[in-house]
Amino acid sequence: MARIDEKLEPILETVKQRNAGEPEFHQAVIEVMESLGRVVAKHPQFLDEGLIERICEPERQIIFRVPWVDDQNRVRINRGFRVQFNSALGPYKGGIRFHPSVNVGIIKFLGFEQTFKNALTTMPIGGGKGGSDFDPKGRSDGEVMRFCQSFMTELYRHIGEYTDVPAGDIGVGGREIGYMFGQYKRLTNRYEAGVLTGKGLSYGGSRARPEATGYGTVFFVRSMLDACGEGFEGKTAVVSGSGNVATFAIQKLQHYGAKVVACSDSGGYVVDENGLDLDLVREIKENRRGRISEYHRIKGTGTYFIEAGKGSIWDVPCEIALPCATQNELNGKQAATLIRNGVRVVAEGANMPCTPEAIAAFQRADVLYAPGKAANAGGVATSALEMQQNASRDSWTFEQTVDRLDDIMTNIHDVCARTAEEYGAPGDYVLGANIAGFVRVAEAMRALGVI
Ligand code: GLU
Repeated sequence: MARIDEKLEPILETVKQRNAGEPEFHQAVIEVMESLGRVVAKHPQFLDEGLIERICEPERQIIFRVPWVDDQNRVRINRGFRVQFNSALGPYKGGIRFHPSVNVGIIKFLGFEQTFKNALTTMPIGGGKGGSDFDPKGRSDGEVMRFCQSFMTELYRHIGEYTDVPAGDIGVGGREIGYMFGQYKRLTNRYEAGVLTGKGLSYGGSRARPEATGYGTVFFVRSMLDACGEGFEGKTAVVSGSGNVATFAIQKLQHYGAKVVACSDSGGYVVDENGLDLDLVREIKENRRGRISEYHRIKGTGTYFIEAGKGSIWDVPCEIALPCATQNELNGKQAATLIRNGVRVVAEGANMPCTPEAIAAFQRADVLYAPGKAANAGGVATSALEMQQNASRDSWTFEQTVDRLDDIMTNIHDVCARTAEEYGAPGDYVLGANIAGFVRVAEAMRALGVI
């Protein structure tokens, strides 16, 4: 792992003290700081005006109570969050996560990452993130609707198309965005389509938004392989997760001729040696809202299922590994197994899924490794395209939208590669993404003065 420049150490110490007990936030900040030594050596002005310290401190953090009534008429209380991290480049932009693990540190790490990710897209969007410790698993439609309405009853006063534009993340998809948009519209008496993205097509959503994160990650991998004169044809891939990001990544990988042999959910992972049947994965996860273990029960021969805790999806040999589930899902030991089994490319579809030890192992072994803030930026980029369509009261075709997404991802890849080279670390996409994202935000912040 790279060391932190000594000029940056006191800043990191302050971040750690000020945000005690938030390990994921520290992890995200450390990863960026490890890249910034080379920037401040070249551009000492970025150490002025408390700029790096300011970039690590969210502009605003909102924590609120979310009361709701379950189907048994019992009152339930959850905690809601919105961290408005940085608005130097545009209105705060980033998803909302509903998951029992959500706390302020997790939302802060996500908001921090989002700031640089959004900058890499070159779209006019700042960074933010929100969520709740609400667990949608096993909840009825009615319960989810009442929860979303209560969540928005507080959130609505903090957001707006020029202020803060939330979207989905883990546990928040089209259904939840619909309920939240409905409540926002009712509370404000405004049809303000640009206040949320990831909307349904019938009320202002963008074509290709559901596909965007997964497709975008695979477009990024395509560029990485391209740069080495390689393609997907005949390569074996493993994709963790089975949600929105994972399923569309699998679809694109299959389209390019890769064989995707495994995917997972929190209950374990399934392997299909003949290549996953994506329609079945979707039927189980989207229509039945069921468990991935059912795949093996239905398909039988040639497939197997390993329960969570009894093994790891990263034990499955592959050349392309896409962690698309959640933070810190791939550790140093699992990285070593992947490397031993001949992995060639790792690209993060989720936010911070690889631990620092895993990243270091991939980089030491010369595995092509793409960090989430670059490789999964396709989702938020397409959200920005949705905002564009809403602002012009227009609606683009699927092809037009995917073409734009493809251009954006290719451009992010090229900028990261170029920046890494310029700063003396060719092939280091972590360094390239961190520096390119940071410089964009930092230059805007300098221009805006001390605010
Ligand atoms: N939650 C997604 C992300 O991590 C999308 C955010 C958005 O579309 O605003 O980038």
